[in-house]
Amino acid sequence: MNPSQETALKTSEAKLFMQMLKEDGIEEVYLAPASKPVAVRADAGPVRVKSSTEAKSVREKLIDLREQALKCTACEELASTRNKVVFGAGNVQAKLMFVGEAPGRDEDIQGLPFVGKAGQLLTKIIESIGLKRSDVFIANCLRCRPPGNRTPKPEEILNCEPFLSGTIDLIQPKIICALGTFAAQALLKTGSSISQMRGRFHDYRGIPVLCTYHPAYLLRNPGEKRKVWEDMKKIKGEMDNLGDVKL
Ligand code: SF4
Repeated sequence: MNPSQETALKTSEAKLFMQMLKEDGIEEVYLAPASKPVAVRADAGPVRVKSSTEAKSVREKLIDLREQALKCTACEELASTRNKVVFGAGNVQAKLMFVGEAPGRDEDIQGLPFVGKAGQLLTKIIESIGLKRSDVFIANCLRCRPPGNRTPKPEEILNCEPFLSGTIDLIQPKIICALGTFAAQALLKTGSSISQMRGRFHDYRGIPVLCTYHPAYLLRNPGEKRKVWEDMKKIKGEMDNLGDVKL
């Protein structure tokens, strides 16, 4: 295949992928440029490099997983009250992944995570360490909005856990940032408060997890923003240590 044929093939594949997402109501998705460095996970046993071919496969698997979530009715109440399933969005080759609690009203309407005021603040938090939203992947513990933004029930977390762990397995981030008490407790299977957990790294199946305050909490308590900036600096430092700060 000559270079122009390869380019044409990549373009048609990209169009097909975007069309599939658009049909499902996703208007925004970030894909890594083909020239980006591939990810190697130090903790994944035998070294495994994501070649561009594997990256396509990850996208396809993510689409499969997302299609399962779109049809999911495991949580009867959530499935009957949601407008859209919010699977997650971002760079399929992200080194940094953010995990929040559950979709809110804006997210439920748009089918995208962190698009309201808290989402705008999250964008600033991401940019505070020199990254863009398009560099990271963002998901929630729950893919469907609890009515009235009530706290997710334990059984709902259990039901949705395979979608979260499946997404993490496919993205293979080098670092996870858990946003808020709920995400931290769900990921780390602990009852500790966010104040106890924030500011240091924990472990999720070999991946370092830094817990920090949820952007929605910061909107209500702006005086706590400084602590989140400090937490983000720790993430930046860890990425520097991993030798992969340039996403
Ligand atoms: S929250 Fe998750 S497990 Fe529950 S219905 Fe939605 S997709 Fe299914």
